[in-house]
Amino acid sequence: MKMRVYLDNAATTRTAPEVAEAMQPFFTEKYGNASSIHSFGEEAKDAFENARQMLANYINAEPEQVIFTSGGTESDNFAIKGTAYALRNKGKHIITSKFEHPAVLECCQALEKEGFEVTYLNISRDGFVNSEELKKAIRKDTVLVTIMTANNEIGTIQDIEKIGKICSEKEVIFHTDAVQSLGKVTLDVKEVNVDLVSFSAHKIHGPKGIGALFVRDKKQLQPLLQGGAQEFGLRPGTENVSGAVGFAKAVDMISETDVKKMTELRDYLIEKLLEIPEACLNGSRENRLCNNINVSFSHIEGESILLGLDDKGVAVSTGSACTSRKLEPSHVLLAMGIKPEDAHGSIRLSLSKYTTKEEIDYVIKAVKDVVESLRKISPLGK
Ligand SMILES: *Cc1c(COP(=O)(O)O)cnc(C)c1O
Repeated sequence: MKMRVYLDNAATTRTAPEVAEAMQPFFTEKYGNASSIHSFGEEAKDAFENARQMLANYINAEPEQVIFTSGGTESDNFAIKGTAYALRNKGKHIITSKFEHPAVLECCQALEKEGFEVTYLNISRDGFVNSEELKKAIRKDTVLVTIMTANNEIGTIQDIEKIGKICSEKEVIFHTDAVQSLGKVTLDVKEVNVDLVSFSAHKIHGPKGIGALFVRDKKQLQPLLQGGAQEFGLRPGTENVSGAVGFAKAVDMISETDVKKMTELRDYLIEKLLEIPEACLNGSRENRLCNNINVSFSHIEGESILLGLDDKGVAVSTGSACTSRKLEPSHVLLAMGIKPEDAHGSIRLSLSKYTTKEEIDYVIKAVKDVVESLRKISPLGK
């Protein structure tokens, strides 16, 4: 029997029905502009501020430290460019790593064209930044370090506490993209020295098009848009009330039990996939997101595996959704020192709280079949 199985939750997730339900009234009944001072506006404003409070509580921040944005991409742009512009008289050096999300990497590249200098830290074979290398890279004119909490392709989780400590000792602003780790890796902004943190709702069963940026100190951030006084004067534009309400509902639904369930299914799937000859797991097995699996199969192309699986109703990816259409080997895998031919043969399977054991068993069989039949016809064969 053919099933339809969605294992591309690192690209986006199903909006939880409870989230859609919570958002519904803000389209057709409570549609006021949250900046209006009449009762329609008040109603929207209350819901919006309540959503901000819920998100702030979840990371132990103050509500005025949470700025709503249009998603992870905007949060990353805002954090990086906003800091670079605000502190340009202090220094023009930024440190990041070679395996960041394109929203971070391309931001840094754009800033280089404007005269900023960027150091790209190496990634170890198992998917980590080296903190000693980071320490050595920090200079007098370094103003910002931006390193992601969990990688979207290989799922490795960095030691954010340690990186934060280094940045605080050297008095450098620290931004982390926590889009993949939200709800899966706990973050307490009073415990960990992070200055800016990016989030996005649609990776945690919230709606697309809304995200947030935690901002410890608003003075060190220059707005990128002009237009209104919304979001403490930092991010103008009519408030996305339904989006914020949906985001907050998604955060409210995060559960330890789901994380545990995903971890078990992930481990089971990894174990079964590694039974396939010449399969290897990319990225550390230990410090890894509870829902991420990235495997390489020698002698075949990831794209062919993806299409073969799609035929069987299984959705996976060959890396990030943003780069997979380019048919270039993943910059993440290359940064880890994986050979281009092996990087080409990799697929990412990302689970969600809705993933079932039955689906996983179906996927195991599908991957085995697809890999076997592709290897039979592979010109890359031994
Ligand atoms: C998805 C993702 C983004 C982009 O978020 P959007 O809300 O889709 O703009 C940024 N960083 C990481 C790590 C992501 O996984």
